[in-house]
Amino acid sequence: MNVPSPYPTLLSSFAISCGPSMRRRCNAQLSLFDLLTSISPTQLCATTEEDLPSLERLVNIALLANKYCIVSYEEWSLDRILSLTQRPSNFLRHAPPQICARVLEVAFLCNHQQLLDITTQRLVARMLWSDIDRRPVLEVAERRGITKLQGVAYYKELIELEGYSAQDGFYLAIPPDTPSVRRACLISAHHSLVNLWECIRLHPPTFLSDDCQAHTECLGTWTSLWSYAASSNQTLQHGPADVLGRLKSMMILLKKTMVETESMSLGCVLVALESITAMRDDIIAGLMDHFQEH
Ligand SMILES: [Zn+2]
Repeated sequence: MNVPSPYPTLLSSFAISCGPSMRRRCNAQLSLFDLLTSISPTQLCATTEEDLPSLERLVNIALLANKYCIVSYEEWSLDRILSLTQRPSNFLRHAPPQICARVLEVAFLCNHQQLLDITTQRLVARMLWSDIDRRPVLEVAERRGITKLQGVAYYKELIELEGYSAQDGFYLAIPPDTPSVRRACLISAHHSLVNLWECIRLHPPTFLSDDCQAHTECLGTWTSLWSYAASSNQTLQHGPADVLGRLKSMMILLKKTMVETESMSLGCVLVALESITAMRDDIIAGLMDHFQEH
């Protein structure tokens, strides 16, 4: 385990890195010293979650260590945070959005790509499929230009404005006090996502199979099943701009029907399902593009 250097070494290297201002150095030293001396030697060598400093404290250590260029503590705290994100019931699934947003920010500031990727990926899923308060994460995403999370937050806001009535079908209910530029952006994004759905509905993702003996038949079955799933009630219960909700319903239906059909080889069934996942990931990565015009 990469355990940081003892405090005296840490504080002397810190003093060198802080520049000429004595006042700034003393103040910073105090806060950093207070923070770091509150971690016991057992916590530094901790191997279990119970022994570690709290997540909040790990984030504070990483931010301060980054600010004052103390690489060993920065790496140590980021590694600990990363290990917490990799546990089966990791905090990104259930922790308050404020602390998740701080982890996102520290990963960005410290340029820790692995932590940034896993945090983004988990928050995308949580924002899409739960009613988490998206504002803290969106605030960081906007400030740091993390477009994937921005796109997901704007998309969720938009599809929550889609309503349904038996008389009129689906409609977009933009609050009357919405500024005109924002209103135009929402209408344009809605139009763009509805067009995307039309494209998805008509064009199933294609896939290759090297060792399939009856691939033409597989592709014919795949096209029919895709059309069936795209027009099912289950899929169309989601609003027309909710392409990800519709695609999720299609995936559930297609998994069931493709396993039952005998007109597709097992290898092609698996590759076909992977092609839906790839399509979904592409859509998520490009969500922000629908909101770029204004
Ligand atoms: Zn095939």
